[in-house]
Amino acid sequence: GRYTKQDIIRMVEEEDVEFIRLQFTDMFGTLKNIAITSSQLEKALNNECMFDGSSIEGFVRIEESDMYLHPDPDTFVIFPWRPQQGKVARIICDICTIDHTPFLGDPRYILQKMIKEAEKLGYRFDVGPECEFFLFHTDDDGQPTTISHEKAGYFDLGPVDLGENARRDMVLTLEDMGYEIEASHHEVAPAQHEIDFKYDEALVTADNIMTFKLAVKTIAKRHGLFASFMPKPKYGINGSGMHINMSLSKDGRNIFDDPDGEFGISKEACYFIGGIIRHMKGMALITNPIVNSYKRLVPGYEAPIYIAWSATNRSPLIRIPASRGAGTRVELRCPDPAANPYLVLAVCLAAGLDGIRNQIMPPAAIKENVFEMRLSDKEKLGIESLPKDLGAAIAEFEKDTYIQEKLGGHISRKYVEAKKAEWANYRKQVTEWEINEYLYKI
Ligand code: GLN
Ligand code: MG
Ligand code: MG
Ligand code: MG
Repeated sequence: GRYTKQDIIRMVEEEDVEFIRLQFTDMFGTLKNIAITSSQLEKALNNECMFDGSSIEGFVRIEESDMYLHPDPDTFVIFPWRPQQGKVARIICDICTIDHTPFLGDPRYILQKMIKEAEKLGYRFDVGPECEFFLFHTDDDGQPTTISHEKAGYFDLGPVDLGENARRDMVLTLEDMGYEIEASHHEVAPAQHEIDFKYDEALVTADNIMTFKLAVKTIAKRHGLFASFMPKPKYGINGSGMHINMSLSKDGRNIFDDPDGEFGISKEACYFIGGIIRHMKGMALITNPIVNSYKRLVPGYEAPIYIAWSATNRSPLIRIPASRGAGTRVELRCPDPAANPYLVLAVCLAAGLDGIRNQIMPPAAIKENVFEMRLSDKEKLGIESLPKDLGAAIAEFEKDTYIQEKLGGHISRKYVEAKKAEWANYRKQVTEWEINEYLYKI
């Protein structure tokens, strides 16, 4: 590991850290934390900090609600945006039951378990995410709106772009926290941005995604803006994706790379793609977890719909970006930033390994834009579509016993239960679209 217990105690003292936040993520991808003062640090590092799990969504029944937090010392970081005296730091924790065994509802544990499975086969799983988000204005009460600064800028005088300034500040803050930012740019839609940080081992990346969102939201607020990771906040413009770039290495060598293979990729890379394609419908509930996720997966906005892959074209679900050698990777374009990154990486790895173990060949790579192909051609090539809505995604998940097994019974059950309730609730709503479309006509 990077830090020992003693390192952390020393850093907290030297840096005058007053509060430590013990963080974890619930099943649905929400970051939670319990704050302690530095006086409790040693106790926390000895895994003696308890919390009441019954109040966390998707956790456990009242009778068995006492949980222990096991801090992962390597995740210690001081928040650069808090006061510089009496600083605030955080440590990400694993969740354990009363007898200190891993809690099966902890998504971080599910990912760790999958990573171990890959390690047994000699693989290291690296992932680089591309998180997109919107920067919106808040109203007079401080509530978020879907109004963008760029619209406000249109009416305003100055050339200052609030969003660009905020994004620069986000990049600098993330760098302060140890991120290596590879690129940051304005995205296609007004007020939409993307910040890409360097790939790392899957667990580190999942932790990084959680911290990334917190940092982006915090800095946006400082600039009087609201950062939203909602997949499709506005009709008629691009939604926000969280593309993930994946590779496997063995003994330090990227095994997706093969200069002699077709498209310069290896057999393992093909099988990995084959596994993702086989399980894609079943795992969409994890990669695209909310009602709104499916409003993004429609034609015309650079989001995928068809389950296909390409080495040359960026329209399909899976593509192989141009770089080869150590940079050879498979990019999956359907996940969105509403998803729980621990579970997304766990199911992607599970699906990819299923492909490798069972040598699942993917269908032929497509060369043309899938959105422009005729339906009959798509049918001939056996190209299927992602689930159309959350209801369809739940049904597909329930059919994929392999994905359920890899997530474990606890998570699979609780997750489906909650998603069914979400879908049932949504189905009862009467939307503004319906009122506008029908009220006057009928
Ligand atoms: N916003 C698009 C999506 O929803 C991606 C756009 C891009 O990165 N080229 O996935
Ligand atoms: Mg990108
Ligand atoms: Mg992008
Ligand atoms: Mg991309």
